[in-house]
Amino acid sequence: MRLTRYFLPVSKDVPADAAIISHQLMLRTGMVRQNGAGIYTWLPLGFRVLQKIEQIVREEMDRAGAIELLMPTIQQAELWQESGRYDDYGKEMLRITDRHEREMLFGPTNEELITDVFRSYVKSYKALPLNLYHTQWKFRDEIRPRFGVMRGREFLMKDAYSFDLTEEAARASYNKMFCAYLNAFDRMGLTAIPMQADTGPIGGDLSHEFIILADTGESAVFCDKAMLDLPAPGLDLDFDADLSDEVAKRTDFYAATEEKHDEAEFGKIPAERQVSARGIEVGHIFFFGTKYSKPMNATVQTADGANVPVQMGSYGIGVSRLVGGIIEACHDENGIVWPQSVAPFEVGLISMRPKDEAVATVADEAYDALQAAGLDVLYDDTDERPGSKFNRMDLIGLPWQIVIGPRGIENGVVELKNRKSGEKSELPLTEAIEKVK
Ligand code: ATP
Ligand code: MG
Ligand code: MG
Ligand code: MG
Repeated sequence: MRLTRYFLPVSKDVPADAAIISHQLMLRTGMVRQNGAGIYTWLPLGFRVLQKIEQIVREEMDRAGAIELLMPTIQQAELWQESGRYDDYGKEMLRITDRHEREMLFGPTNEELITDVFRSYVKSYKALPLNLYHTQWKFRDEIRPRFGVMRGREFLMKDAYSFDLTEEAARASYNKMFCAYLNAFDRMGLTAIPMQADTGPIGGDLSHEFIILADTGESAVFCDKAMLDLPAPGLDLDFDADLSDEVAKRTDFYAATEEKHDEAEFGKIPAERQVSARGIEVGHIFFFGTKYSKPMNATVQTADGANVPVQMGSYGIGVSRLVGGIIEACHDENGIVWPQSVAPFEVGLISMRPKDEAVATVADEAYDALQAAGLDVLYDDTDERPGSKFNRMDLIGLPWQIVIGPRGIENGVVELKNRKSGEKSELPLTEAIEKVK
């Protein structure tokens, strides 16, 4: 993308209510525009990141055997009356009345809707296990929307729903999501720690929140330091195998959010390994058995011919929250430092003198060569001062910068800069491309 033809409204002004660094940086780099309390337009640069995160999540869900579909944002009240949640959900639910005085709502989550889809088609245990997911906008009328996209009212969530015949099988489905989540967050350059979370009135031990540590996090969290060094299961994991050891390896360590925190248990960890910190909830997985299938009559026939309510779980990832969360984890005093996997562009190409024909020609050729190598390139072909170009590139945080100037052209080299380490080197373009790929 040529910057002269792009829409990148970088701004120096940050509104006073942008309290945390990720929110400030997202506004300064023109990633989002606030249109109302907790409601945002995703500007081109921000939208690219959102899509990259969504795609990583999609690939890891698919790898774990989940199947993508798309449910609507607007739902009918009837389904929620069936499950009993229409009244329980309270003021966080945005309720809408259509022209026929029908009660509707903007979905804050989709358990009811997916249960209705399921019961309409699936009648036999033979169709199980099944895991269906989508990535769709949700609306929750948060009492205090804040921190930019991290606590929005309209936000993008990936939500998956598993269906199994038995509790044991449901646990296997849960384990798949547990591992897929660790792989997905790892690919985004994040250390997300699975922590025991509150299961509410349903009880049981099967709920984990995935937390990234950040001083600006809204939850108090406690864990064993060893959790920070555990590698993700890896993309070669066999999702058809029994994953209980893979999960146990991580759940054996102490890790809990405030609601589940047990000071006595925590105290048993050696003092130097006790981590007490703030965290951001980027994902949440939950087994809830027959909570929806029973009242909504979603049953399947067993091999013996009996009809039993299906065992369900749900699995959410805050796709739009992650954009802010990743910036909280990845920035320095000069701006954002994107992990390459989610960067809006992988390379920023800077032409030092776009009006000098020799420089422009070499820069244009470099632009073509980088794109031919399959890289996402933002090509700064503006005729602004080099200093402001460098600052802007640092601010928007692309992992690599390639600078084309008259001196380098004479020597047949370009300057390659790594945004994270700050390391610079001069080398031929072909070698620079190899490094960046
Ligand atoms: P929180 O505790 O932050 O209010 P939650 O527990 O209510 O989140 P879930 O119902 O578990 O949220 O939804 C799944 C995921 O959706 C969360 O883990 C989070 O990443 C994301 N999410 C929830 N609420 C918001 C929001 N208001 N803005 C952005 N992302 C959100
Ligand atoms: Mg909430
Ligand atoms: Mg929560
Ligand atoms: Mg949650």
